[in-house]
Amino acid sequence: MTEEKPIVTSPLQDLLDSNLRWSAMVRRDDPQFFERLAKQQSPKYLWIGCSDSRVPATQIVDLPPGEIFVQRNVANVVSHSDLNCLSAMQFAVDILKVEHIIIVGHYGCGGVQAVLDERRLGLVDNWLRHVGDVAQKHSGVLQALQPMALRNARLCELNAIEQVVNTCHTTVVMDAWERGQKLAVHAWCYSLDDGHMHDLNMHVDSREALHPAHDQALRQLTRLPATPA
Ligand code: ZN
Repeated sequence: MTEEKPIVTSPLQDLLDSNLRWSAMVRRDDPQFFERLAKQQSPKYLWIGCSDSRVPATQIVDLPPGEIFVQRNVANVVSHSDLNCLSAMQFAVDILKVEHIIIVGHYGCGGVQAVLDERRLGLVDNWLRHVGDVAQKHSGVLQALQPMALRNARLCELNAIEQVVNTCHTTVVMDAWERGQKLAVHAWCYSLDDGHMHDLNMHVDSREALHPAHDQALRQLTRLPATPA
């Protein structure tokens, strides 16, 4: 007599069921979708954003799977010693030949707020020191802003802009420009309140364009009212 195997129900069954419904829906709208996508990905964009669950890449710019290569971490940091981010960037630029790298911050970012509050959260504090460095660099601008929500908004914007500078200084981006590859780096900040993306006027498409673009983005920021979270 053979023993019947118990049927194990996954504790994540609701997600698996949802996935089945989604794949059926996609196939209904476009029967060749998965067949096409399985063969090749050719995204034009690399998205470097915050890990925050409310800021999913393809969904908020209304693009289907296959259109954006994504790297996310707490507070959308580009650190020169982060092999994970640099490897994703190198693959995206050298192999996939993305044409745009978009650094996407978001207003009300908890990582940014932890820096402003000087709150101790644990290991992540070491990671957030990168945002702390941005806050220190722009402390004059930030200290003049009240209430705290405005300060948070401005630091979210400044952080995205400064991470563009870090991105442009990577060997990956420098080498791409050196060999004449078409590549631009941009800063955005997303509003959780209304789902709108804010362009931070930071667009860099060459080594020479970096400093003028940085100066211009900072000038534009001082003219615009910071958007409260
Ligand atoms: Zn965040």
